[in-house]
Amino acid sequence: MKKLKMEYKDIWETYTEEDRKDLFDYGDRYKEFISRCKTERECTRDMVRIAESHGYENLEDLIDTDRRLEAGSKVYANYNDRALVMFCIGKEPLTKGLNILGAHLDSPRLDLKPTPLYEDSGFAMFKTHYYGGIKKYQWVAIPLAIHGVIVKKSGEVINVNIGEDENDPVVGVSDLLIHLAKDQMEKKLGEAIPGEDLNICLGSIPIEDEDEKERVKVNILKILNDKYGIIEEDLVSAEIQLVPAGPARDYGLDRSMIIGYGQDDRVCAYASLEAQLEVESPDKTTVTVLVDKEEIGSMGASGMQSRFFENTIAEVLHLTGDSSNLSLARTLSNSKMLSSDVTAGYDPNFPSVMDKYNSAYFGRGVVFNKYTGSGGKSGSNEANAEYVAQLRHIMDMGDVKWQTSEMGKVDQGGGGTIAFILANLGMEVIDCGVPVHSMHAPWEITSKADIYEMRKAYIAFLKHA
Ligand code: MN
Ligand code: MN
Repeated sequence: MKKLKMEYKDIWETYTEEDRKDLFDYGDRYKEFISRCKTERECTRDMVRIAESHGYENLEDLIDTDRRLEAGSKVYANYNDRALVMFCIGKEPLTKGLNILGAHLDSPRLDLKPTPLYEDSGFAMFKTHYYGGIKKYQWVAIPLAIHGVIVKKSGEVINVNIGEDENDPVVGVSDLLIHLAKDQMEKKLGEAIPGEDLNICLGSIPIEDEDEKERVKVNILKILNDKYGIIEEDLVSAEIQLVPAGPARDYGLDRSMIIGYGQDDRVCAYASLEAQLEVESPDKTTVTVLVDKEEIGSMGASGMQSRFFENTIAEVLHLTGDSSNLSLARTLSNSKMLSSDVTAGYDPNFPSVMDKYNSAYFGRGVVFNKYTGSGGKSGSNEANAEYVAQLRHIMDMGDVKWQTSEMGKVDQGGGGTIAFILANLGMEVIDCGVPVHSMHAPWEITSKADIYEMRKAYIAFLKHA
């Protein structure tokens, strides 16, 4: 009898010993990446370094030269250290369309306010403003690390990283002791920790100078000055992010999963990078675009709504000897994209919010979301059935295990990604990623099998779309 039913096998059972080794090796490389890169800048710089070591050249160095891009040429564009686009030129002209992988590099966190430092009752403190959608109660009583840049008036950029080395100190936001939490415990979960109260404790030793006021604050300024040569005013031109301190780790006694900060969406960004590097001499030009600001609406110069992506494609077209507007329009509208972002994983602790027939499960592979949005698919760019069918075929070609889902029950909530922005340029786009538990929590969880299949899916897409 012909196979009529769609069935999901537990993919762990399908792996050979060699597959498993490959899979765990990939998990290790990914864990190292998210442990050393916890801001969009750290991700961009690290990825540029890796790309260069694979022969990618900075597009900026080619503009206004006589160099021409041809099949096999590899270039990247670094947008202010916050977004990155990589191209491997294909054998076919760009106007036949690009095969694009897109993901975002920013993750929810606590940012410093422009005037952050103050002293209160013997403590030096930082004021913060949270970034992205967080459950605020999850960010108290955990060790946080300080990452970011401080730019001096001279233009000198100072990189800050405190709290990742095991000998570094960490900082954090205190929570109210349970013994005195009678009123707090009666509040709604979303109101128990107000955003304005997410203040970071930095220290408690006063500087040895009797004439100073706010001696604890001054002592912290001295520590920062000794280490980075900065003064308080320099914090005005800084981007400092408070993120969970410490490395990503194996999760589960069988080590089948990974727990780490910022997996939304670096899990897709890292897989995209590896796939982009792996596919050399493609037929169609392959592109990986990694952007910032997704968690706050994709606005801003380094967000997906910015023109930098189109402008970069125009520059690349120009370097292949074709600079007409019509060619740019054709290139965009003939392109295909996997908009890669994480999705809700079915969680046995919270079954009531999911439609179990249309959920993404750990261990079933890469996930395609034909649509996202909320309510009646509001805000979604739904992928065409023809495109989904083509992807099923491509996944077969790459022997990729995949599943489909939608994000939770109808009318339960929802979410959006960068997909609709690219779809607005007239290209075929679908949401694609892996299921996550505890999304947007300080420590998020993914399955090693799913991220391994995602990497395979991206390679198949770049080769065959
Ligand atoms: Mn995301
Ligand atoms: Mn997110």
